[in-house]
Amino acid sequence: MDDRRSNTALKPLVLLVEDEADLVTLLRYNLEKEGFRTLVAGDGEEGILLATEQAPNLILLDWMLPLTSGIEVCRQLRRNAKTRDIPIIMLTARGEEADRVRGLNSGADDYVAKPFSPTELVARMRAVLRRATPGLSDELLRFGDIEMDLAAHRVRRNGRDVHLGPTEFRLLRHFMQHPGRVFSREQLLDLVWGHDVYVELRTVDVHIRRLRKALNEDTETDLIRTVRSAGYALDLKTG
Ligand code: CA
Repeated sequence: MDDRRSNTALKPLVLLVEDEADLVTLLRYNLEKEGFRTLVAGDGEEGILLATEQAPNLILLDWMLPLTSGIEVCRQLRRNAKTRDIPIIMLTARGEEADRVRGLNSGADDYVAKPFSPTELVARMRAVLRRATPGLSDELLRFGDIEMDLAAHRVRRNGRDVHLGPTEFRLLRHFMQHPGRVFSREQLLDLVWGHDVYVELRTVDVHIRRLRKALNEDTETDLIRTVRSAGYALDLKTG
């Protein structure tokens, strides 16, 4: 591991979980040139260990790994309180596989299909990092006519103030940070309530109901979509 932390404290630390040596070399070179510090794990187990011990700012996770697959690593990282909030970008092979990964909805923040250009990857990394660091630059989230000011802890729809309880606030923030994505009740419990808390699945429905009630005034469109037997999403398409 490198030990340049003292003079590079402000550079984001990226954990690269990838077994292809050539790609590791290429990525390390490009990421370090772009001002990131890097840590490398050659398999999923080591990746989980390093993620837990080093608390990186971002994880680049290959989907095809020996022993434990990238998807499984992603799930385990999301279940652990120490690594739950670390943004993850999955690196996948082209086409079908990328769709499959997306379909599996493992909890990754973004997906980049191989082969990719380092420039594209770095742009996606910066976008994910901005989203994951409230207070950095994305204090204001917008979706449709909903506006969420994270710093002021204030929500507005159509210009009027919406009053939310703390759980509804976190729930809405999560949806607004991942618009269009469907989250199961289990995922919402993990991501919004936290895995250590014991809450029944139907609690999610209760809070979704409260959130809808607070957000929607009579003629307004319900932007929270219920996806039968799958979960919920914040979406402009209803039904
Ligand atoms: Ca691989």
